[in-house]
Amino acid sequence: MKKTGKMVSEVLKSFMKKPATELYPFVKNPKPAGFRGRIIFHYEKCIGCKLCMRDCPSKAITITKVADKKFEARINLDDCIFCAQCVDNCAKNALESTSDYELAGLSRDSLKTVFNNESVDNVALRPEE
Ligand code: SF4
Ligand code: SF4
Repeated sequence: MKKTGKMVSEVLKSFMKKPATELYPFVKNPKPAGFRGRIIFHYEKCIGCKLCMRDCPSKAITITKVADKKFEARINLDDCIFCAQCVDNCAKNALESTSDYELAGLSRDSLKTVFNNESVDNVALRPEE
């Protein structure tokens, strides 16, 4: 009987408390500084040294020359482990970690991203062809 009383008091206490669960995706918490989410590429800064390709432990990034001093980046986010080694090692700051972590999709193709000078804002994404 003593145990039942204790249990009831615990239940009542829990009713009075704010829920511990997060309201995600309706409420999104701010990301901590240095958060490593979706990688994006700024084509206008790239000099095509391909250091990022050599450094990437997942072979998730490919840089291709598309015109004179113009380079395209293909980043397979389904292979990427978001270590940001490419971002840290790019001397031209042509790669950037964003705070976007909502990458779930029904197909891996949506995670194969291409960045080139056809994109209007440098961060446009389109599935790999
Ligand atoms: S993104 Fe940076 S590291 Fe990669 S090829 Fe371009 S300049 Fe070099
Ligand atoms: S974040 Fe890491 S795994 Fe992803 S592309 Fe850059 S180096 Fe490769």
